[in-house]
Amino acid sequence: MNPSPQPQPLDPETLAQLRAWEDEHDSGVYAKRDILLVQGRGTRVWDAEGREYLDCVGGHGVTVVGHSHPRVVAALHEQAQRLMTCPGSFYNDTRARLLARLGTLVPGLRRVFLANSGTEAVEAAIKFARYSTGRPNIVAAMRGFHGRTLGALSATWKKEYRAPFEPLVPGFMHAPFNNLARFEALVDDRTAAILVEVVQGEGGIHVATPEFLHGLQRLARERGALLIVDEIQSGMGRTGRWFAFQHFDLEPDMVTLAKGLGGGVPIGAVLIGERVKPLHPGLHGSTFGGNPIAAAAALAVLDILEDEGLIENAARVGAYLLEGLRAIPSPLIREVRGLGLMIGIELRRKGAPFLKRLAHEEGILALPAGMNVLRLLPALSLSQDEADRILAAMARVLAAVPAS
Ligand code: PLP
Repeated sequence: MNPSPQPQPLDPETLAQLRAWEDEHDSGVYAKRDILLVQGRGTRVWDAEGREYLDCVGGHGVTVVGHSHPRVVAALHEQAQRLMTCPGSFYNDTRARLLARLGTLVPGLRRVFLANSGTEAVEAAIKFARYSTGRPNIVAAMRGFHGRTLGALSATWKKEYRAPFEPLVPGFMHAPFNNLARFEALVDDRTAAILVEVVQGEGGIHVATPEFLHGLQRLARERGALLIVDEIQSGMGRTGRWFAFQHFDLEPDMVTLAKGLGGGVPIGAVLIGERVKPLHPGLHGSTFGGNPIAAAAALAVLDILEDEGLIENAARVGAYLLEGLRAIPSPLIREVRGLGLMIGIELRRKGAPFLKRLAHEEGILALPAGMNVLRLLPALSLSQDEADRILAAMARVLAAVPAS
């Protein structure tokens, strides 16, 4: 069913034309890297000239089960032939199965809202928190990233993302990540929710401390607010557990999901707990949310994660990779952080030239997190041999640049 993994190279004229079309007609909001990808399979992708890369970008953390997993492809094929769209106002077999799976993954989080992206999941969680508590404020973390639509953007920290679109939604405030006292000063009887990532992704791969997370949970309960954990990047097995908050025995009131959940097909979800007031018809909605195509893909992803032991693999190979990266004796490395296969290498230099070298000289795609963090978000099927390849490449690339 899948095409052969080695694509035929495109001729230089076609390649130039394709690049020109993107340059001329894309909106302009994306900084382009100098690679045109045409195919993916498992942990690998190929560019239009037929070059193979070990993919640690993974569609920005989407490919937890790898690119074009045959079971995801088959599920899409089967569903597409049968029913591609079905609004939430009708029952649907595939969506019902997905809701049953997602609504029993975490004890206590039994209800699920299905959306089409991460930012939409965050929007929904914010709305549900305001509705449920009757309070306006959301307290989020500095360096946090929650999406680009206006509500989620208001919870996002980075000034460059926010400033061009002000005024944003009122009621959002930020305190330093891992600083409980500063959160304590902001959370009060006007706080609808505390919204945090357990491992900050875009913000540079920073892992929360158990004291901080448990403190936030206590604070939310004491002051009548909800705790929303954003697992859009860290969820779906990425950190070696289904969800990163499970490393800390946390009991969030809502969990936002997207990225890996659809195996490459757009989907978002909010898992909703019992402290959230029951939601009623008409309160929120989405034309495409819960559509059978995305639901079929997500069901396949859930099966694959379980059947192939990918979450255990992410824990094992992730720990091996983290340890190996920490052992690279480069003065350019400030710190290596991460959990499972969500890894950041903070450099004392700008990361971009290293990402370029990794891609062009080593055939490894990695992504940035801010100016000087190299981020690795490979498929959870990454093998130890592939981890060794990353380690050797990283050591070479760091050694190639004088430390000065
Ligand atoms: N929340 C987190 C933690 C994310 O990492 C992202 C995307 O990177 C989002 C929200 C937004 O997701 P999307 O790009 O699907 O809207």
